[in-house]
Amino acid sequence: MRYATPASAKEAAGLLSKEKGAAFLLAGGTDLLVKLKMGMVEPDLVVDIKRIPKIDEIQTSAKGFTIGAAVSGAVIGEHKGLRAAWPGVVEAANLIGSDQIQGRATLAGNLCNASPAADSVPAMIVAGAKAVIVGPNKKRTVPVEKVVEGPGKTCLTKGEVIEAIVLPKPEPRTGDAYMRFIPRTEMDIAVVGVAISLKLERGVVKKAKVALGAVAPTAVVVPAAARALVGSKLDDASLEKLAAACSAACNPIDDKRGTVEYRTRVAGVLAKRAAKLAFQRAGGAL
Ligand SMILES: Cc1cc2nc3c(=O)[nH]c(=O)nc-3n(C[C@H](O)[C@H](O)[C@H](O)COP(=O)(O)OP(=O)(O)OC[C@H]3O[C@@H](n4cnc5c(N)ncnc54)[C@H](O)[C@@H]3O)c2cc1C
Repeated sequence: MRYATPASAKEAAGLLSKEKGAAFLLAGGTDLLVKLKMGMVEPDLVVDIKRIPKIDEIQTSAKGFTIGAAVSGAVIGEHKGLRAAWPGVVEAANLIGSDQIQGRATLAGNLCNASPAADSVPAMIVAGAKAVIVGPNKKRTVPVEKVVEGPGKTCLTKGEVIEAIVLPKPEPRTGDAYMRFIPRTEMDIAVVGVAISLKLERGVVKKAKVALGAVAPTAVVVPAAARALVGSKLDDASLEKLAAACSAACNPIDDKRGTVEYRTRVAGVLAKRAAKLAFQRAGGAL
């Protein structure tokens, strides 16, 4: 197995695209190294992006935030600007694993691993996050909700590398939240995850976006759930409609960690809680 430390995302893309054998990009390694140790992958080439200048930094501009592909959950959690702007994204990133995992795990790695239960993905989707993708010949920017195409499958073609995740500056009176249900208090995979962002105008929900995790092969955006919130002050009727829309959008697996019926019901319950938190974060009074 060869190990490379390119100096730019373009160089990383070139190395990955030219490799004839099995080539893998290494970010935090919290998924890749587990697969390697379990013999699930046998790389001929590992391309470690962590020595690319600025790839471990969060840049802030008038437009929002550019989070380099090697920025860890721990660094995200300590970033005051990001915590104030997108607390739901930060809480989702910080739910990933233990302190040790937090020191390494990245948003781009969580996205590219393409697990249906990835915690940060629904949160990034409702925040309007985009992935900046660098290939050997061209660069493109893709909304996060279009990156994952199925379990373990993304839209990235051979050699393409996510250089950064871009989050917009939130509009005034916007709030977001992410909640997940796991069978124990930590270090487990979501049985259901719910992310909601909403914008208020004079105390009423003007815009909303709702995404579910772990209840289908990919994260699911639920427009009917967003419609249930728009125009409301989060009264009981709108919350019941939200819960019903979320439950209706579920197409989960049935396993020992949660039956289809259970996951479907929990999605509605969590959606109501996440909506209330996002509403309060947007400055709404309940
Ligand atoms: C103990 C433990 C607990 C965990 N708990 C959780 C949890 O609670 N919630 C959760 O969602 N996940 C969890 N995970 C999974 C994992 O930590 C996350 O998915 C993490 O965000 C992966 O990021 P990484 O940088 O470590 O990815 P890596 O392991 O480096 O990469 C993952 C995959 O994505 C590819 N990749 C990574 N970065 C890029 C990029 N920039 N461009 C293109 N391809 C890329 C890699 O080639 C690899 O195939 C856990 C893992 C462990 C070991």
